Amino acid sequence: LLLEGAMAWASSFDAFFKNFKRESKILSEETIILVKHYAEKNELQEALSVICNALADIENAPLNIAVTGETGTGKSTFINALRGVGQEEEGAAATGVTETTMERTPYLHSKFPQVTIWDLPGIGSTSFPPENYLTEMKFGEYDFFIIISATRFKENDAQLAKAIEKMKMNFYFARTKIDTDLYNEQRSKPRTFNKENVLRKIREDCSKQLKGVLSGEPRIFLISSFDMSDFDFPELETTLLIGLPAYKRHIFMLSLQSVTEATINLKRDSLKQKVFLEALKAGALATIPLGGLIRDELENLDETFNLYRSYFGLDDASLEKIAEDFNMSVNEFKVHLRFPHLFTEKKDVSLEDKLRKYIGHISSITGGPVATGFYYGKTYYLQNLFLDTAANDAIALLNKEELFEKKVGPYISKPPDYWE
Ligand code: GDP
Repeated sequence: LLLEGAMAWASSFDAFFKNFKRESKILSEETIILVKHYAEKNELQEALSVICNALADIENAPLNIAVTGETGTGKSTFINALRGVGQEEEGAAATGVTETTMERTPYLHSKFPQVTIWDLPGIGSTSFPPENYLTEMKFGEYDFFIIISATRFKENDAQLAKAIEKMKMNFYFARTKIDTDLYNEQRSKPRTFNKENVLRKIREDCSKQLKGVLSGEPRIFLISSFDMSDFDFPELETTLLIGLPAYKRHIFMLSLQSVTEATINLKRDSLKQKVFLEALKAGALATIPLGGLIRDELENLDETFNLYRSYFGLDDASLEKIAEDFNMSVNEFKVHLRFPHLFTEKKDVSLEDKLRKYIGHISSITGGPVATGFYYGKTYYLQNLFLDTAANDAIALLNKEELFEKKVGPYISKPPDYWE
């Protein structure tokens, strides 16, 4: 490349990552600076080798999550929720049983074998002092600790957190069964019940014991493992993401089980960054003549497309389950979604036409390939089209109740303009 081109490349690289929120960034600032540094000196080979290493780290990053708490606090239920395993499914951590083991137990995530969630015995049932407890539990092997309680946190919990802090590791407090607390309060005080007041009281009550032992005032996440999209669960996820090193965020984002617009966007953003890095790695500095060849490229992208579907809960098994909930057939149901129609040519609108529109849409935001300093291959745009379509469909599904109860017209109120 000419130096001028290299400078444009470097600043485009930098600018690309500025589009993403901190919690969804999969490259560290140091890595971005390093790539930019090499590119600016026109050492593109070095820049690409940094990118390749980063990609390998992102793909292989193991994630080990420690969950500790006494029996009965809802630890097993919480672990299954994180893993995406139903309480009644085979391999689920047994819930509702009292067992006191002194050992940690590993549980794998249902879709991401890189993610292991460790069930640690409550410190109270082991009689270890916090430092010994941590050594016994191999504290160095975890990315973070989640300390859970279904009532107030105890002196024990606070001491444990203090010891974790001393080891320079991250911990988070989660207070479970919030749904039950609210339900009970509402039943017992139907006239004066106020949700916000109840939550505030629980929060204050929980932090009392902790404040005395820990230096600052720790954040406590009020959650229900039966409803991961509600209360503080989404915020807990975002906070965990920020606390992780950037290269570990991708797998964790994809593994998230809560279905909120925020998590769908996180997954989309994470995948967009990965697709971007892969395009650079593949040397996607190509011109973009459209037309022809698309079928061949699609063959190779089939698997990718199916993966995206499953990341966003749009795989056949998931759709069947939702359709069943609505008493509809899957086909009846698919009419309301965009992704199943990406490949069908209706009204003379082929995938190529859709792709061309989509590229126009992206260019209108970025100022086009010349302004961005990159020329991407078709594959890059196709993957992005898939991603945006899947993410939009997932968000539409979120609003499904409204959608199907009212039997409103085709699909969401405002489809993205590249679809028109
Ligand atoms: P563990 O002994 O700490 O592993 O606790 P379990 O996961 O077995 O949960 C104990 C009981 O609490 C079970 O009956 C669960 O169904 C229930 N439970 C767990 N988490 C929640 C929650 O967030 N909300 C409600 N309402 N019940 C929960």
